[in-house]
Amino acid sequence: MPWIKENDCTGCGVCVRKCPAEAIVLTSARKAKIDMLKCARCGVCHEVCPRHAVGHDSELVPSLVSANIADAEKKTALCGERLGAPERENSLDRFIKHYRREIAVAEKTIEGLMKLKGGKA
Ligand code: SF4
Ligand code: SF4
Repeated sequence: MPWIKENDCTGCGVCVRKCPAEAIVLTSARKAKIDMLKCARCGVCHEVCPRHAVGHDSELVPSLVSANIADAEKKTALCGERLGAPERENSLDRFIKHYRREIAVAEKTIEGLMKLKGGKA
């Protein structure tokens, strides 16, 4: 999914005008903002931005992973403090299950999307 690098966005509005899903607005600070619920993932905003201010998903992977781990560490540590070390381990296991389920959902979703494309990658 696209995301805006606010420091690089000049608020020129090109992406707002070109987005086919009307998913981008300019904020009062004149920064582009994408409504992910509307975004059709067409990629046009990446192509038209003269400042290369629209980032790609892959650039966010390291920070998303770090945030997920920090979140689990904080929450499970609290369990450990209040309920003991075994509960902290149980809690960590449930976080692991949760992310395994996310993988399963993503894989099945990709399978369905490939079918929509007629099996082409
Ligand atoms: S085209 Fe680029 S610089 Fe212009 S408003 Fe959109 S993100 Fe910002
Ligand atoms: S990817 Fe396409 S639909 Fe999504 S915000 Fe960019 S231009 Fe709009």
